[in-house]
Amino acid sequence: MSEKVLSAGDHIASKCTKCKDTTNHTIVALVGEKVARVECNTCGSIHNYRGAAKKKQPASRSTTTAAKSRSLNKAQRDWDELLENAKPEDATAYSMTTPMKEGLLILHPTFGLGQVLNCIRPNKMDVRFQAGIKLLRCKLS
Ligand SMILES: [Zn+2]
Repeated sequence: MSEKVLSAGDHIASKCTKCKDTTNHTIVALVGEKVARVECNTCGSIHNYRGAAKKKQPASRSTTTAAKSRSLNKAQRDWDELLENAKPEDATAYSMTTPMKEGLLILHPTFGLGQVLNCIRPNKMDVRFQAGIKLLRCKLS
């Protein structure tokens, strides 16, 4: 007699779609010895018993969104920092024939002021503009 027989009113961990997590539930109805319906102790919703396994999708989605907004904030901070230290009058006018190098401040006809982050040989570079990081063709020094 080691196995506990569940009955209505007992507590059990179950996934809750409202809480988007595994929470404590109270058993509302059983079918035979199987838990059929449960009431979430956190939000009070009554739903079918879904077991205690974590649902991966909502968690990973919210993590991705958080990471994205963090990186957006970081991009904005990086840009503000660049502007603080940059001297626009020293910027080199961007052209396909002007040699570029990492760290160079450039002035692009479309994107405006930018800084070369990364040179990708033989002829490309990542440039941080206010609009974001762009991959441009260039001549490398
Ligand atoms: Zn709930």
